[in-house]
Order: sequence, then structure tokens, then C-alpha cells
Amino acid sequence: MKYSLNIGWLYPDLMSIYGDRGNIISLTKRCQWRGIGVEVSPISLQSSEKDLSSCDILMMGGAQDSQQTIVAQDLSKKKKVLSEMVESGIPGIYVCGGFQFLGHYYKEADGTKIEQLGVLDVYTENPGRERLIGNIAIKVENSKFNFKDLVVGFENHGGRTILGSKVEPLGKVIFGYGSNDSAKEEGAVYKNSIGTYLHGPILPKNPEIADWLIEKALEKKYPSLSLGQINNILLPIDDSMSQKAKEAVLKMLGIVDN
Ligand code: GLN
Repeated sequence: MKYSLNIGWLYPDLMSIYGDRGNIISLTKRCQWRGIGVEVSPISLQSSEKDLSSCDILMMGGAQDSQQTIVAQDLSKKKKVLSEMVESGIPGIYVCGGFQFLGHYYKEADGTKIEQLGVLDVYTENPGRERLIGNIAIKVENSKFNFKDLVVGFENHGGRTILGSKVEPLGKVIFGYGSNDSAKEEGAVYKNSIGTYLHGPILPKNPEIADWLIEKALEKKYPSLSLGQINNILLPIDDSMSQKAKEAVLKMLGIVDN
């Protein structure tokens, strides 16, 4: 195959809840349907920094606090490589616990502070109040994306994430909670990395985000490709089923008419 991408699935055995593995299936299928070769590399406790640095797209799902503590210890060894990858524009999507990992720190409900990677200018504190649970719809208006769209998902988190000045929110909350209980904003975007609370999984229901990640990965791995050539590779796919799934959620939430 002319083009190929290595999808790094960070901690599939510890960080993958509420269907997050669907993000890997979505990225894999959408590449394969366009004739792009795909390898999926699970990156976990036994993986080396070299295994990580060979990835072209990264995906990390969510977890409970107990798994996050184990992963935090391991990630401290891979921090330099992961930071360099994010800084250099390797695209990635980091969901819920994964999102929290990229920030400066995560404070658990009992006050335990876990240092995080500090790659994204955000921090998270779990005040031990009610968890923020339910279906969520956001409007993505960030100028980084070639789409302005309603994006749907499912959130379940105790942590409240506060954004610093170096990141932009992924979208405005139309229904649900988002990053914390007051800002009405969801997620954070930095370079080609997206942190979000949207499980669901997010990519099969919102394939425009999957294609954005694939586009960025191709740009990075094959810098001689023009935008026109990339568009020729990323030919449209019949997404009517995904569209219907998204519409069903939007109708259920009363955002679009039945
Ligand atoms: N432990 C984190 C929280 O509750 C992450 C939860 C998740 O990944 N769904 O805030």
C-alpha cells in the first residue's frame, strides 16, 4: 500500500470504558476504506518509548481513578516522548481520564494530587460532589476544524477540568455539562491533539473528527502531499448510518425536531 498509518492505542487494558475502543475501530475502518494501510499498536505498561514514538495517531480512553494511578506511574517514564509527539503535531484524541492525563495535575476526591503530563494547559480537580453523567451535545466552532458541527457523546466524570490560556475549548455545550459545571465549554484543543469528555464512543458517531485526525496524520507523515492530494485519498464515505445515530441523540435531547 502506498500510504500507511500506525495507530497507537494507549493503555487498552487499563484505559478504555464506555466503548472507547470504538474510536480505534472507526479510525482503522476509515483508513482501510480509503486504501490506507493500518497497524494498531497497543501501548501499555510493557511498551517502550520507541513503540510509542513510532505511532502516527494516538488514542487514549477513560478509566476509574484506580487505573489512572497505575497509568500515571508508567506515563511518567514516557512523558518526554509523548510531550514531544504532541508538540510536534502528532494528532491524538484523549478521552475523559485520558484528557485529564494530558493536563498539569488531577486532584482526586480525597485530596490526593496526581501529577500529570503537563502537555495541555489544563488541570482537573474532583470535588467529590455529584458526578457529571449523561448524554452531551456540543457545537464545535473551533477554527482549527474544517467543519462546524454538532458533536454528540456520553459523559461520566467526577473531575472538573479548568482550561488555561494556551488551549482552546473543543466546543460550546448545548446539552449536558462539559469540562466543568460552570463554563458550558467542552474539551480542549492544542496543536493536533483533542482532549474531551465525550465517550460514546465519540468517533463513530462523529466521523468528521476521525477524518480530521487521519488528515493531520497524513500531513505529518507525508509532508510532500498537497491538500488536494490528501483530499483525493480521503474520499467521502457513506456516513448515513452515523448521521442517523447522531440525529437520534439530537432528537432525544430535544435539540432537533422529531
Ligand atoms: N476518573 C476520572 C473522573 O471520574 C475519569 C472518569 C472517566 O474516564 N470516565 O473524573
